[in-house]
Amino acid sequence: MSKEICPCGSKKPYQYCCGKYLAGKATAETAEKLMRSRYTAFCKGNIDYLITTLHPDKRTPSDRAELTKTINNTQWLSLTVINTSKGKKNDSVGYVEFEAVYRVNELGQLHERSKFIKTDGKWFYVEGDILPGTIPKRNESCWCGSGEKYKKCHEV
Ligand SMILES: [Zn+2]
Ligand SMILES: [Zn+2]
Repeated sequence: MSKEICPCGSKKPYQYCCGKYLAGKATAETAEKLMRSRYTAFCKGNIDYLITTLHPDKRTPSDRAELTKTINNTQWLSLTVINTSKGKKNDSVGYVEFEAVYRVNELGQLHERSKFIKTDGKWFYVEGDILPGTIPKRNESCWCGSGEKYKKCHEV
């Protein structure tokens, strides 16, 4: 049995967290779980999962090529879920606000509020609003997760 910790930040073993969704053994019950599993799919390069969980109305013929490019260029380092609204088992719409830290040559921070819709009992990612990054105060810990103070790390 693998003891790999899930990349989504849950601190749970991968196979009991997003792994079961990526393997098709279970369906994400909430918008947050779907969001986390899509982040994990980006980390793992699971393009099929990213297309399957994208709302059918939002799919385009170039999805696979674009996802391949993103996955090849980006190293995903951490995910923090900041806020969720609706998206529970009995809802049909949900929103998840998150911050993800990644590296494309340089470190970057993605702060997004994603919208999810449930159709036929399955959650789908619809679209996301990109929000301004949350810049910490100089003496607070850096957003990159290094544990250093912001002023000693990624201050711009
Ligand atoms: Zn997970
Ligand atoms: Zn930093």
